[in-house]
Amino acid sequence: MSKTSRRNLLAAAAGAIATGVIADAAPAAAADAAVKPIFEVPLTWIPIVGEKEVFPVRRIYCIGRNYAAHAIERGSDPTREPPFFFQKPTDAIQNVAPGQVTDHPYPSLTKNYHHEVELIAALKSGGSNIAPEQALEHVYGYALGLDMTRRDLQNAMAGEKKPWEIGKSFDHAAVIGPIHPVAKVGHFTKGAISLAVNGKVRQSSDLSKMIWSVAEQIAKLSEAFELKAGDIIYSGTPENVGPVVKGDLLLAKLEGLPDVSIKIV
Ligand code: MN
Repeated sequence: MSKTSRRNLLAAAAGAIATGVIADAAPAAAADAAVKPIFEVPLTWIPIVGEKEVFPVRRIYCIGRNYAAHAIERGSDPTREPPFFFQKPTDAIQNVAPGQVTDHPYPSLTKNYHHEVELIAALKSGGSNIAPEQALEHVYGYALGLDMTRRDLQNAMAGEKKPWEIGKSFDHAAVIGPIHPVAKVGHFTKGAISLAVNGKVRQSSDLSKMIWSVAEQIAKLSEAFELKAGDIIYSGTPENVGPVVKGDLLLAKLEGLPDVSIKIV
């Protein structure tokens, strides 16, 4: 940092203190072009079909137990539970190009690594307390992906009433195909969704069976968090989640979008 910019920063900070708006000092400093990070942290982004520009990822939200049959297989009552959410770290994204098989590393620590095929909504704007009727206005597009899960670790932690972070939030845990803009594909409220492993269908359902629609998910999420552009939402998986091992070929399908495929290595 140059002497001049440091002086400007100090002056800005002093001014902020004087005017009692110290909370605003940090963003003001960050906006100073002379402020340079000590190293670069790569931006996480997802390709957009038909666009040169990419979708920058701010936060990854995931909804749990959003298909009745999956809620039952996970041991809960689908008729009574409100939706619940968790997050994956932004850089857990693994981009998968359509028409290709992308190598997906089997993660450490687990002996029961599960697939969860899911529709993902990508937001171009957000807010708090969004009404379900307005919620879809915030969706930029949709993608198909996998909420990969170290199930043994998730279950062990849940059993001990500890956070299941380690089961859900790790490198490559958020597999995703490219984003398809709403302008081209519309909104997804129904349509077949499936996952095959080595050519054998394991998960097969329809988006219409989601307990909470994407619009309702956005509305509910926005009660707890201020949603913003760049947030993406994994909308939950249907039943028959199950284990994969090294060498397995996974093929995810969603009616209206290209297939997404990974190989566990
Ligand atoms: Mn999931």
